Amino acid sequence: MRYLLYGVLSIFLSLIILPSIVIFGFSTHEVSVEKNLVLVEGGKSVKLDKLPSYEVIRVFITNQNKIEEMQLEDYVKGVVAAEMPAEFEIEALKAQAVAARTYALAKEVALGGKGCDLHEGVDVCTDPEHCQAWQSVEELKGKWGENFEKYYSKISQAVDSTKGLVMVYQDALILPVYHAISGGRTENSEDVWQKKIPYLRSVVSPGEEVASKYKTTVVVSQAEFVKKLKERQPSLKLTSNNILSEIKNIERTQAGHVKTLKIGDVTFEGKEIKELFGLNSTNFTFSKQKDDIVITVIGYGHGVGMSQYGANALAKEGKKFDEILKYYYQGIEIVKIEDLLKGKH
Ligand SMILES: [Zn+2]
Repeated sequence: MRYLLYGVLSIFLSLIILPSIVIFGFSTHEVSVEKNLVLVEGGKSVKLDKLPSYEVIRVFITNQNKIEEMQLEDYVKGVVAAEMPAEFEIEALKAQAVAARTYALAKEVALGGKGCDLHEGVDVCTDPEHCQAWQSVEELKGKWGENFEKYYSKISQAVDSTKGLVMVYQDALILPVYHAISGGRTENSEDVWQKKIPYLRSVVSPGEEVASKYKTTVVVSQAEFVKKLKERQPSLKLTSNNILSEIKNIERTQAGHVKTLKIGDVTFEGKEIKELFGLNSTNFTFSKQKDDIVITVIGYGHGVGMSQYGANALAKEGKKFDEILKYYYQGIEIVKIEDLLKGKH
């Protein structure tokens, strides 16, 4: 990436544009020469002569059913606190802060993002299944109890020490997806969402086994198993009482997650089975225990991008937040959002 410095010229110009900087709450004293920039892949071009005000974010608070405007950095604290255990290593929390900030800014309408498509005129919502989780200070007090001060100051330190830092790939904000536990290897984006995204590549993610949800099991009776599958696919025919012998052609991704499998005469996607039986991930195997089917699941979440438990394991090894992020998001750069907005790429 190329950074242009305007030196004396910028100081001179800053005197002229200072009033507008104050109006827009923009802290930089440098000016852009380029007037438009696409900051978000597939997003709208942003007119930089108007200095987009990105520091206030419009958030739809799902559990309160209301919209709130808040300072971006305060919002990021609420996301880190909601998305990652406060006991995690500080470098893992810092990596989470940069991921959370990048995600939010890539969604921000002011920067050309599409916003949260569930709620009009909103940048992000707090539904973890849709945008990213977020908790208010009040909720965190309830969650952490007497540890509130300690944990909130730790989260604040992680966010403040990475203030304004975002991840870019070819000068556009990335889509920094993350998940709890990959199960030992992360996924290629195209194996989960069809679209090949160059920085979302499958990487080994060691050290996750310490997570209590690394390996989980779901037990269902054979009758229940068949009933649920038939609810999804009424045409399903199972000819044997031995259900396991009817499960064939399991196709797995590079990370070991089930892409598709054939049960009886029907092909299911791994995702469908995950949804039907409430599994933590699509990395599963079947076994039989008397009349029950035991589904053993490895990992938690979609497996794409940064593994949060993997990030913590890397931090324990002494890796810094930027090394963690560059490991899980291949080929990215970490820059200050202000520098990106100065449009010198
Ligand atoms: Zn949303």
